[in-house]
Amino acid sequence: MADFEYIVVGSGAGGGPLAANLARQGRSVLLLEAGGDSCAESEKGRLLYEVPIFHGLSTEFEDCRWDYFVRHYSDDTQQRKDSKLVIQDPVSGQRVDAIWYPRAGTLGGCTAHNAMITVTPQNYDWDGIAKTTNDPSWLSANMNRYFERLENCQYQPRPGSVKYVLSGLLWSLIALAKRNTTWRDWVHGHGFAGWLTTSEADARLVLKDIEIIRILLKAVRFAFAEKLPHPLLGFLTKLDPNDSRNDYNMREGPALTPLAVRRGKRNGPREFLLRTAEQFPDRLKIELHALASRVLFDGRKAVAVEFLEGEHLYEADPRCRALQLPEGVLLRYTLAQALYFYLRTGVAEGKIRTRVYSSDSPYDRMKTDIGEVATPMFEPQADAKHLTKLERLLREWVKFVKDGPDLDEPFTSFPIHDRHP
Ligand SMILES: Cc1cc2nc3c(=O)[nH]c(=O)nc-3n(C[C@H](O)[C@H](O)[C@H](O)COP(=O)(O)OP(=O)(O)OC[C@H]3O[C@@H](n4cnc5c(N)ncnc54)[C@H](O)[C@@H]3O)c2cc1C
Repeated sequence: MADFEYIVVGSGAGGGPLAANLARQGRSVLLLEAGGDSCAESEKGRLLYEVPIFHGLSTEFEDCRWDYFVRHYSDDTQQRKDSKLVIQDPVSGQRVDAIWYPRAGTLGGCTAHNAMITVTPQNYDWDGIAKTTNDPSWLSANMNRYFERLENCQYQPRPGSVKYVLSGLLWSLIALAKRNTTWRDWVHGHGFAGWLTTSEADARLVLKDIEIIRILLKAVRFAFAEKLPHPLLGFLTKLDPNDSRNDYNMREGPALTPLAVRRGKRNGPREFLLRTAEQFPDRLKIELHALASRVLFDGRKAVAVEFLEGEHLYEADPRCRALQLPEGVLLRYTLAQALYFYLRTGVAEGKIRTRVYSSDSPYDRMKTDIGEVATPMFEPQADAKHLTKLERLLREWVKFVKDGPDLDEPFTSFPIHDRHP
């Protein structure tokens, strides 16, 4: 493979924009993504990715799901109250005893299955990080500029429009009267030329569902009883949590949720990457199904990344865990008399394990235990390697039983299911 100035591992919210921006700055970039592009690979994948209302389903989409299991509490009793507690992996039978936490291994990472909610952190949070890390580059004054650069806001008046000028003038008058120094700021923390399009769902849609109206009214009554939000700010910001004016009063209370949605479809790092690769094919190479396995160093400098090529190679991928082998297989090899091999296969502790028995009778097939073959299941070609080892063991046994075996005679017939049905 050609040399690149940068190798980025993972195309999620972190790696995706980094790789695209480096390429746009004239750098040559290789992006390694362990997953495929599930949105482009099937109609189901496309619908689950694009249609916002399907985001709950997309979280469990097998083609790109990576299952993690986490502990939320060290206290077992507390932990067991969670309905997502998994005691045993249904595929491997291994004990899990942890909360299921699905992530996505696909182009765009978790932005391909998340809820698209796009809400900026509060100034208070950024400033807290700056204080904790003793690093002023985390200060909100610095960090907020990045959101302005990446956003392409569709739900606030766009600069240059009549609505923008009118609402800007109104704000300037109010701010001057209140001696607020930001009276000249008419964008209020929003960006209008970035790669991530944000929009708001049509709030009128809730009018169709009486239950949702009830829940909303209850929430609004509660919020106003608690004096949330500040009435003037609520009116000026139209309940937009990303409007920087809310930071004068902390952002609590009802909000209309900004979403990473463009013309009714999910958008995110995936689209940014694909656009960039199309515009600058000589600068950005996206390698799908490439699981980075090792970073190589020359002294303290990272100079190369090793990766495994193939689908569903990562342990957290259910398709990787779902390696299917028949539980029991009986093989017959004809010597002077028949020789039977009985193979019992299962998965335990991350390994495919086959215990092999030999007998002269198909009815008493576990007469002699001749050994076990084990292969780590998360390495590439695990099933092929396993078969080779098994064949070796069987041949050795035949050799042991019979003098001068005919090694060319095909005696293995091992019905193994396709790993990726
Ligand atoms: C169900 C769910 C809902 C969410 N909802 C929201 C929301 O509404 N709003 C919001 O702001 N955030 C939400 N989040 C969080 C947000 O999506 C994540 O914080 C964000 O995507 C994390 O970005 P990341 O780049 O760190 O990791 P990820 O998005 O997880 O991306 C990591 C990528 O790296 C790849 N990768 C990993 N290891 C390797 C390797 N060795 N070699 C090659 N590739 C590799 C993976 O395949 C993946 O594509 C949600 C998350 C989840 C799981």
